[in-house]
Amino acid sequence: MSVVCPAPSAASEDARLGALLRYDVMDTPAEQSFDRITRLAQKMFRASFVTVSLLDGHRQWFKSKQGLSFSETPRSEAFCDVTIRQATPLVVPDARADPAYASLPLVTGEPFIRFYAGAPLRTPEGYILGALCVMDREPRSLSAEEIDMLVDLSDIVVGQLQLRQLADTDPLTGALSRRAFRDLAARELSLSRRYRRELALLTFDLDYFKSINDTHGHAAGDDVLVRSVDACKAELRNSDSIARLGGEEFAVLLPHTGAAAARDVAERLRRALGAQSFGSGRGRFHISASFGVASTRAGASDLDNLLRRADEALYRAKAKGRDRCETAPDCLPGQTQRSVAKRGRIVVEGVPAIDCTVRGLSNNGANLEVLSAEGLPASFVLALDADGPTRSCRVLSRAGRRLEVAFG
Ligand code: GH3
Ligand code: MG
Ligand code: MG
Repeated sequence: MSVVCPAPSAASEDARLGALLRYDVMDTPAEQSFDRITRLAQKMFRASFVTVSLLDGHRQWFKSKQGLSFSETPRSEAFCDVTIRQATPLVVPDARADPAYASLPLVTGEPFIRFYAGAPLRTPEGYILGALCVMDREPRSLSAEEIDMLVDLSDIVVGQLQLRQLADTDPLTGALSRRAFRDLAARELSLSRRYRRELALLTFDLDYFKSINDTHGHAAGDDVLVRSVDACKAELRNSDSIARLGGEEFAVLLPHTGAAAARDVAERLRRALGAQSFGSGRGRFHISASFGVASTRAGASDLDNLLRRADEALYRAKAKGRDRCETAPDCLPGQTQRSVAKRGRIVVEGVPAIDCTVRGLSNNGANLEVLSAEGLPASFVLALDADGPTRSCRVLSRAGRRLEVAFG
């Protein structure tokens, strides 16, 4: 028997998505500490599939997985979307016989899941980020003792999430972790405000990095990441800092630097990255990166605003063809996007609504993330939350999974 609880309120879902953002874990590479837990669970429960599933606004993404070939699904197709609404584990003994789950694509098609058990991943602050899930192709059940074990393992997963959040440096590249970078940038911003100094921030993302991994192997990809950070450090001043924000995405903080000088630094880094030569069994290759530049006069922006603007410029650089630097316009009141994490729905006539996560929002437009931006029309309606306001949107740019839209 399954109990489907009501959807969480928009405000509590926003707070939950905000907490997920602070854990900085979405789309990060696999880590032994999580894979060990899912491998152990696979053995303990003799289960075909185990995942650490995290729920974004529009998708579930697996920080660790055993037995599955894919690493995300739309949120609307996830058992975990139900699990995160309850305080206790969700056990579905036979999904095919349960009308709440029988029509999910994971049940009707590959991997043909019949049995699901998921323990919520609850943080000490009380946010449920996702679930530790065990699944099978045959109907089955869990004893009370097994459910306790699943809950214990889910607590260990949350413990690991907390531990990785405390790290100051990225173990692969030695760059600052996102958390350490945020602390440092917040301090530098308040200094720039106090002493009325300029400050700039660059974000950059390696181009087509997935195909480098695919062609030359993961080890060659790791080598690219390590040497790229070294190449950037060689170009930067001692007072500048470089951080790894995610897989192949980095940020550079440039204290006492205005817009024009920051753009020069970005160009220099872009050339330094492009000048490197790498090799694998499949031959030699070069890389490129796309940059976004944002600056603030006398600390007029807050850190989220600066990061958001640099990120928008970066995605413009991607959309314009990559291997280039784009500068964010000076921020005008009202046009400034607030960083948000909100659940949204894209409504296109005659098509079921498409889930998205709203990452930035201003009076004039928004920044959206979807599973795929390809094939979406040039204009659509955006519904913020289930029964929230709707806005007509015009697509300004699209790159991969990101959409920049203007309202009106
Ligand atoms: P784009 O030009 O749009 O940025 O395309 P992309 O292929 O660089 O971007 P995408 O986000 O599709 O792929 C990023 C890839 O980076 C996928 C992921 O497997 C890989 N990656 C993330 N972290 C690591 C890591 O630590 N090591 C290696 N080798 N690969 C990583
Ligand atoms: Mg990339
Ligand atoms: Mg990227």
